[in-house]
Amino acid sequence: MNIIIFGPPGAGKGTQSSCLVEKKKMYQLSTGDLLRVELKSDSNLSKKLKEIMDSGKLVSDDIINNLIEKKISEPSIKNNIIFDGFPRNIDQAKSLDTMLKKYGQIISLVINLKVDNSILVKRISGRVSCSFCKKPFNEFFDPPRDPSECSNKECINRDLIKRSDDNENTVSNRLKIYEDSTLPLLNFYESKGVVKNVDAMKSINEVTKQINCIIDDL
Ligand code: AMP
Repeated sequence: MNIIIFGPPGAGKGTQSSCLVEKKKMYQLSTGDLLRVELKSDSNLSKKLKEIMDSGKLVSDDIINNLIEKKISEPSIKNNIIFDGFPRNIDQAKSLDTMLKKYGQIISLVINLKVDNSILVKRISGRVSCSFCKKPFNEFFDPPRDPSECSNKECINRDLIKRSDDNENTVSNRLKIYEDSTLPLLNFYESKGVVKNVDAMKSINEVTKQINCIIDDL
C-alpha cells in the first residue's frame, strides 16, 4: 500500500513516517530529505536549492518529479511507500498519478494530520534531530533523550542538528505556501475517497495509534 502523509510544516509528517517505517517496514520517501542530501554536494544546483529552501519557497516541480520517479521505479519499494512532503501542489499530485500508473501502483490512503496554526511555529522552531539515526526530537514537546538510551551505538557521539529553514522568519512563509498551494490538494484526494483525518494535536504515541488503527482497518 502507498500512503501520503499530508499536513502543514510541523504537523509531524516526518515523525509519523519514521514510526511507520519502524512498525510497518514501509519506505519513507521524503522529498525534503532527498533535497537536503543534494544540498551537501558543492554544485551550482545545491546553492540554488539552499536559497529556495531557506526562504521557505517550493523547489521547481521538474526537480522534484525527477527525484520521485527515480524512487517510484524501484521494484524493491513498490506499493510500500510513504510519501512525506510530496505532493505539495496540484501539478505534483497529477504527475504522481501519472508516474504511479506507469509503474502499476496507486495511492490507497492520504493521512491528513490536523494541527492548529498556533502550535505549528513552536513545533517547527523547537525541532532538532540526531546526526546519526536522524530521529527527530522537539526541544519543547519531546526533548532529546540521553543518547545512551538509543539502540544505535553510534548515537552516543551524536550532534543535534537544526535545519536552517526551521526558524521563525521562514515559518510564516512556509505556512502561507502550504495554505495557498498544498491545502487545496485535500479536495483532489477527497474526491478519490482516500482521505482520513487524524487529530495531530495529541501526543506522538496517540497520533501513531490513530494512524495504525486506520491502516489496520483498511
Ligand atoms: P520539508 O522537509 O518537507 O519541510 O521540506 C523542506 C523544503 O524542501 C521545503 O520548504 C521546500 O523548499 C523543499 N521541498 C520539499 N518537498 C518539496 C516538494 N514536494 N515540492 C517543492 N519543494 C519541496
